[in-house]
Amino acid sequence: MAEEHNMRRVTAIKNGTVIDHIPSGQALKVLELLNLTSDTSVPVSLVMNVPSKKMGSKDIIKVEDRELTQAELDRLALVAPESSIAIIRAYSVAEKLTVNLGEEVRNVVRCTFSNCITQNLREPLPHRLRVTKTDPLTLRCHYCVRPQNLDELIHNLL
Ligand SMILES: [Zn+2]
Repeated sequence: MAEEHNMRRVTAIKNGTVIDHIPSGQALKVLELLNLTSDTSVPVSLVMNVPSKKMGSKDIIKVEDRELTQAELDRLALVAPESSIAIIRAYSVAEKLTVNLGEEVRNVVRCTFSNCITQNLREPLPHRLRVTKTDPLTLRCHYCVRPQNLDELIHNLL
């Protein structure tokens, strides 16, 4: 019942994507990861600090008229690995998706160290960050092995 109540908080959308179970306070970072902060024309709504049985409190984002792709959703692993995603078509849930956090975050973000080999544009390499721990998420560059600061990483999206 609590979940239903929360969903009602976010007005029903006809078509689009709902991202639920975002850790409280992370919604803005999620928007940034999805490039939904400035260069977007679709309506986006967010609800922050909603009570959640599972998480204590959580944020919810609703993106109208746009279905996020799995590749976009996988970026969410950086700040909201436990989030649940619903693709909405004609006011009902058409698809449920989850964020995949594997052993490596590949070609999502660039290593934050400026002297890393991946910064050499003459030798383009795939951008690979290894997941060394999931809770809290800890990433190390595959090449220079240095630990990454998640807040900085968000600004290094490819
Ligand atoms: Zn590196």
